[in-house]
Amino acid sequence: MENMSKVIYLDNNATTKTDEEVFREMEPYFCGLYGNPSSMHTFGGQVRRKLDEARERVAALIGAASPSEIIFTSCGSESDNAAIMGVLKSSPGKKHIVTTKVEHPAVRNLCKHLAKNGYFVTELGVDKDGMLDLDRLKESVTDDTAIVSIMYANNETGVIFPIDEIAAIVKEKGSVFHTDAVQAVGKIPIDMKSAQIDLLSLSGHKLHAPKGVGALYVKKGTKYSPFIIGGHQEHSRRGGTENVPSIIGLGKACELAGANIEYENTEVKRIRDKLEDKLLELAPNARRNGNKENRLPNTSNISFEYVEGEAILLLLNDLGVCASSGSACTSGSLEPSHVMRAMGVPFTAAHGSIRFSLSRYSTEEEIDVVIQRLPGIITRLRAISPFGRGK
Ligand code: PLP
Repeated sequence: MENMSKVIYLDNNATTKTDEEVFREMEPYFCGLYGNPSSMHTFGGQVRRKLDEARERVAALIGAASPSEIIFTSCGSESDNAAIMGVLKSSPGKKHIVTTKVEHPAVRNLCKHLAKNGYFVTELGVDKDGMLDLDRLKESVTDDTAIVSIMYANNETGVIFPIDEIAAIVKEKGSVFHTDAVQAVGKIPIDMKSAQIDLLSLSGHKLHAPKGVGALYVKKGTKYSPFIIGGHQEHSRRGGTENVPSIIGLGKACELAGANIEYENTEVKRIRDKLEDKLLELAPNARRNGNKENRLPNTSNISFEYVEGEAILLLLNDLGVCASSGSACTSGSLEPSHVMRAMGVPFTAAHGSIRFSLSRYSTEEEIDVVIQRLPGIITRLRAISPFGRGK
């Protein structure tokens, strides 16, 4: 790396920097105010009040009708598992699950596991832009469908599904609707009061809170059994002493995300568009993956055909630029990601797909460095690639 101290971090869908204001809000709850929020004494009670404030802040960001609809968890993966398992446990007679081919492994691999254990799973496909066929969804939901789990926004492409419309279809069919909104919360406005979503997952480390904390929204009246069985914490809906400092951090991060959501959808989107437009113009045989309009404002997934994504990442890494090929969870394998395969992206393009994901900390100067340097990297790699010569 040319200069390790100057990292250009464009991998915010993998994880984000903890906001310094978030960290400051958490700090007193490690060594000073370390009481257990479930304790009867005043020392624990003040922690309980701060936990309640965090619950209110999370509820406010997603427009929940009541803070009591928020259950704190350890991460987005736990929220996804808790949502699906919690609903299945409370409706044991139903054995059908509807999901999509482009879900994060937290949902996809759980559904694969359930398919081997007595459940029947329908995985809906997507078109070349990564969009769902809503008529197929309508046909798929039956009286036996216990839950429909469809992500809000895709982690690899940023494609946003029409979740309010999807929720309305599922509710009309009489099933329960869960959405994995781990990539959407904090990046686009979400209002649970107007949506017919029953359960929603979110994760702290995708919105400038620390890693290892998440939340599950469960709409009042939804039939739900706890996934982690233990004490009476979280109104007996999730056993285990709460990760107090991180939950307080998540609350603060949600407050800051709400205050910054307009910036995210104007300035972050503007520099994301600049990056994407310039790379598509300057790098030969480059293509965008995913619907251009219905997308998170921070994400751009571009395929540089006839070049290996891993090679691009290594050379970007030498410049201090952090990006990702596919999702962080799928990189490490040379197989094109399940999302690229589901969209039918040709093999030669899927292999060279790079995800850039920005945040409110990304600057135009950083974007300009990538615009200046990356096209040359692609030309060099293509010249030495067995597929790329002459392209
Ligand atoms: N769902 C989506 C869409 C994600 O992008 C991720 C993480 O990348 C997760 C779930 C899992 O979240 P966590 O890392 O908090 O378990």
